[in-house]
Amino acid sequence: MVQRRCRYCERAFQPSKFQPGQSVCSESACQRRRRCDNHRRRIASDPEYQQVCQDNSRKWRTRNPEYWRRRRESHPAIVERNRQQQRVRDQRRRLRNLANNNSAFDLKHSAAQVWLVGVSLEHLANNNSAPAQVWVLETLPPRRGPQTESCQQQRSGIHRVSAG
Ligand SMILES: [Zn+2]
Repeated sequence: MVQRRCRYCERAFQPSKFQPGQSVCSESACQRRRRCDNHRRRIASDPEYQQVCQDNSRKWRTRNPEYWRRRRESHPAIVERNRQQQRVRDQRRRLRNLANNNSAFDLKHSAAQVWLVGVSLEHLANNNSAPAQVWVLETLPPRRGPQTESCQQQRSGIHRVSAG
């Protein structure tokens, strides 16, 4: 019997004899992802299908005007997650624009340091995919406070941060 590895969960499964080319196992989560991916691909490649989907969701919104407001009210965690994901998408778009040098007319040399924060940074050295985030942090201005800090405080690594 031929076993396959599911494209999503990577578990071995037995393809259906009715679907010899099956590449996704029958777990409902994997099937949902497969349908969702197919839908997305088809929307991107088939303008007629895209139009039908847009019409359907517009009709649905007209019939259910309160749905999204009620859903936002009853699922604040989802709202927050969506907001964060949107922020990440916005950030990615800005970085892409920067890379295309479209919206970076006033780029100046910056003394800021780039910190790479993430668990998979060793991939960077191998020039593989680096799923870590890049944080560009402005460097702090040099400390100008009175030189009264004792050596003990500096050695302990505790630095006071002035509020404001
Ligand atoms: Zn699977």
